[in-house]
Parts: sequence; C-alpha cells; structure tokens
Amino acid sequence: CGIFGYINHLKPRTRKEIIDMLIAGLKRLEYRGYDSAGMAIDTDDKFGATGSRTFQLIKKSGKVAGLEEAALNQELNYDQVLDQHSGIAHTRWATHGPPSEVNCHPHASDPTNEFVIIHNGIITNYKSIKTFLQEKGHEFVSETDTEVIVKLAKYIFDEHQQKQTPCDFRTLVEETILRLEGAFAVIFKSVHYPNEVVAARRGSPLLIGILTESKSADIIPISISDRTKKTGKVRTLSPLPPEPRPSFCTLLHIDTHDPVEYFLASDASALIEYTNRVIYLEDDDVVHIRGGNLSLHHVKQSQSDKAFVEHRTTL
Ligand code: GLU
Repeated sequence: CGIFGYINHLKPRTRKEIIDMLIAGLKRLEYRGYDSAGMAIDTDDKFGATGSRTFQLIKKSGKVAGLEEAALNQELNYDQVLDQHSGIAHTRWATHGPPSEVNCHPHASDPTNEFVIIHNGIITNYKSIKTFLQEKGHEFVSETDTEVIVKLAKYIFDEHQQKQTPCDFRTLVEETILRLEGAFAVIFKSVHYPNEVVAARRGSPLLIGILTESKSADIIPISISDRTKKTGKVRTLSPLPPEPRPSFCTLLHIDTHDPVEYFLASDASALIEYTNRVIYLEDDDVVHIRGGNLSLHHVKQSQSDKAFVEHRTTL
C-alpha cells in the first residue's frame, strides 16, 4: 500500500543511512494502512559474470519497526560508503494471498534475485499470465498477483537473450507492463542493470522527488522532447506533450554530472522532508534512472498489445 525508493549517484551514503531513509519513508506512509513490509538493498557480494552486486531482500509481517530491526541485524557492512545505490521499500495491503513473509514484497524473479520488484495495486489478468509462465516451467512461490510481473520481466529478458536482441531496462519494463491489465505502481531493480531503477504506474499513485546540491533548477539542464516511435523525430515541447499523448514518447530528460539523489514514493508526505522538487507520474508513464540521469517516458497499450493480453498464447 506504500512504495518508497531511494537512489543516490555521486552522493556518498553509508548503507546504514540508506536503510534509515528507506525506513523513514515507509514510516511516513504508515498512515495508509498495511499488514507487512519489506525492502531490497544491495549486498557486498558480486554476481557472476555481470560483476554487479546481488540484492538482499528483507521482509517482515507486521510493523515497519519490525522490518527496521531485521534490516539492522543482517550480515552487512553498515558503515560501507556507497556512491551509487538503489534501495526499494514497500508496505503491503494484501489483496491476493494472506499477509505473510512469503507474500510480502519485494518479489523476485528467481532464487538469485535477478529481477526484484515492489508493487502497489492489483493485476487483474494475473491468472492467465501465471498459467502461461507455469506452462513454460516458471515456479511461483507466493500467492500474490504481483509475482507475475517480475517473472514476466525475466521471461521477456530471457527471450531477448535467446534471440540476441538485447534491450535496455526501460524497454524491458515497457514490454512487461504492456502485457498487464489492472492497476499498478511498480519499481524494478535488476542485477542485469546495476544501479538502474525503472518505475511505472497505471492507476496507482507514484511520484519522483529530486534532490541535488545545485542551487537552482537551471543548473540541471532539462530538455523536454516528444519523440514518436514512428518517425523518430524529436521536437521541443513545453512543458509536457498535450493529451492525448503519442503511444511512445520522451517527456522529460534530466542529465546531470552533479551529485544527485532521487526518491520514488506513492505519496508526497514521504518526500517532504527531503525535497520539494517533485514530478507526479501520470498513467502509463515510465521513469528510468541510470547513472544520475533520469528520463521519463510514456507508453500506451495499442490494440495489438491489448490483443496480446487477451490471447496469452501470443505472449
Ligand atoms: N496486490 C498486491 C498484493 O497483494 C499488492 C498489494 C498492495 O498494494 O499493497 O501483494
């Protein structure tokens, strides 16, 4: 029922500070009601050939204070200074599957946590996606609707690998959410895309907060462009493309070489103590944070995507 993400770039923070921020964010969202809480943070370990850190998933039924205690009792180096890190945290209001640690978010694509997500909302076509993935040999560990999202992302990722058509993290998430029906605010993390975060929403609230030591907003060059997939033409718009927006377009791009911290939250109350520079995401917006840069995109289900959802055999 509450989402909080924290991403720093060139702004050194200890692991303890990062955990404290994630917990403070969840505490600010406590009033929304929840039955369990969880988070994903980076470990010190290396992950195989990709060389990136694996993730530690920490989950607890009950109060955020219980999660806080669990997070501070892991075998982690809390004093380690991390120049770049992305942490995600969640409070759950169970809709599919009872409150329990196994149903608690973050959910993972597989036991090695190649992809992890947190989700608010309800995926109405989760049964057909689940059946499809089970037929392909994917095993589900929870009773949630959420788990189909992360397993679908891994399925699409593996398909790209097999076909040797690698895609960036944003494209992967877009291809995933185009197959979902229902409501979601969702944040993705992956060992395949270290230090990147992609978030998307449809029907459930999500906003971005930006904090930089730059004194004025102008110091971050912001260019707003509209790029239709068809023509690849880029033109400058102000401030955002008018509705109805094209199916695929870039709404906003922030490039910065300065230290920057990004926050993602389901509610402005979780950000207010850090920054008043926020962007409210609209339905079908996708935000990609990578190396201190942020780009905000917009995708809309086309008729063929809808057909895709309806006839899962074409997935
Ligand atoms: N439907 C998801 C679940 O039951 C997410 C619930 C929420 O919004 O907290 O786990």
